[in-house]
Amino acid sequence: MGMRPHVLVVPFPAQGHVMPLMKLSHRLIDRGVKVTFVNTEFIHAQIMAALPGKGEEHCGIHLVSISDGLELENERKDALELMGTIPRVMPGNLEDLIRKILQEDDEQIDCIIVDTTLGWALEVAVKMGIKRAAFSPYAVGLLALDLQFPKLMEDGIVDSNGTTVKDEVIKLSPGMPDMKTTEIMWNCPDNPITQEIMLGFAFTINQAVKLSNWVLCNSFYELDPLIHDLIPNLLPVGPLLMSNRLDQPAGSFWPEDSTCLSWLDKQSPCSVIYVAFGSMTIFSQHQFEELALGLELVGRPFLWVVRSDLTAGSDIVYPDGFRDRVAHHGKIVKWAPQQKVLAHPSTACFLTHCGWNSTTEGLSMGVPFISWPYYVDQFYNERCICDVWKVGLGLSPDKDGIISRHEIKSKVERLLCDQGIRKNVLELKEIARKSVSEGGSSSKNLEEFIEQIKC
Ligand code: UDP
Repeated sequence: MGMRPHVLVVPFPAQGHVMPLMKLSHRLIDRGVKVTFVNTEFIHAQIMAALPGKGEEHCGIHLVSISDGLELENERKDALELMGTIPRVMPGNLEDLIRKILQEDDEQIDCIIVDTTLGWALEVAVKMGIKRAAFSPYAVGLLALDLQFPKLMEDGIVDSNGTTVKDEVIKLSPGMPDMKTTEIMWNCPDNPITQEIMLGFAFTINQAVKLSNWVLCNSFYELDPLIHDLIPNLLPVGPLLMSNRLDQPAGSFWPEDSTCLSWLDKQSPCSVIYVAFGSMTIFSQHQFEELALGLELVGRPFLWVVRSDLTAGSDIVYPDGFRDRVAHHGKIVKWAPQQKVLAHPSTACFLTHCGWNSTTEGLSMGVPFISWPYYVDQFYNERCICDVWKVGLGLSPDKDGIISRHEIKSKVERLLCDQGIRKNVLELKEIARKSVSEGGSSSKNLEEFIEQIKC
């Protein structure tokens, strides 16, 4: 009695899953909870390399790792291979880690918080008698749709491969975009590997919600009360943001290039187009060049995150002379401190792939969006941004499926003149901010969760 509650946090090994759980861990630490954060060895090594000079204790979070079953040298480019070894190898490794903590360190574990896509980790916790929270890193509407999956199968609307048999519009609340079954993320017949992974997720998420005492999510109740009410034991605790007191968040897979912040300081207020597509998006060389030429054509200052693996080729190749022509008004970095960029007064808009973290970060900073989804959940998020919340504009491809430089210029110019969109995004920013402030809905949910794990 009287000891600090101790929580074990287990993310899925991908940037967009590790980041929000790291932010949640900081919120827990701020409220007196002890956190042990369990990455795979591969991700742990990447995070430690991006945090030079830091030890395995980061602002109170204890960073530990277990093997995912593949050699460290393996670059994990074969997603199916990894998705095969994880459930085979990691349950035993997690169980060993928990026993070690309980025995050797003479510690208690009051709760385990596990990504909804890792049902096996919840099974380990059930077996060991530990309380469980599932954490959904996606939009709540998508969680609700995933929970509909068994019924859609039963009704013959989708088959057991996730492929749509009857195309129907599913709308679970007025605050959700109209989604045809062909548009839901488990239906991607053009990409069989992604389809197989997403289908696996749909089953696991259903299992995870059943096995959990709580379902935490990176959202806030006011965003869509009806959809939140559909999910049993849901506690929205977002939007999850990095705390201002941290100069370097643990959780980035690449070192952040902070030179872009001093560059932003030199730009006029509300003038810069921030362009970033998260950690996984890949462009064809043709589309990459068209984007570069689009940014040049806009003629405004831009900050563009170009990861070393952003294009399908082995090297990043810009259009001839591009870097010289934009040198005076364009800044290119490999990885940015995104939250700080979005919060900077010089940032005018966000050209984004609509990953859920990027979406919630942009909303929390009141930055309007140009949406350019790449895959899976991002199409749903785009529909929320453009059609439901009306805080951004989408891009239309030409007849060859390419987003042209002219389309980019025209949409950026339209967005920057659109006072309605600016007003909507600033209103949502206020609501989001209130929810995480003291006494706000997300803040109260987090307090309630901590009180319950202490019992
Ligand atoms: N991010 C960052 N710097 C960058 C680009 C992205 O810190 O230059 C962070 C971003 O703030 C977000 C995460 O990486 O928290 C990306 O998650 P998201 O869900 O948006 O996309 P994903 O990478 O999963 O496709």
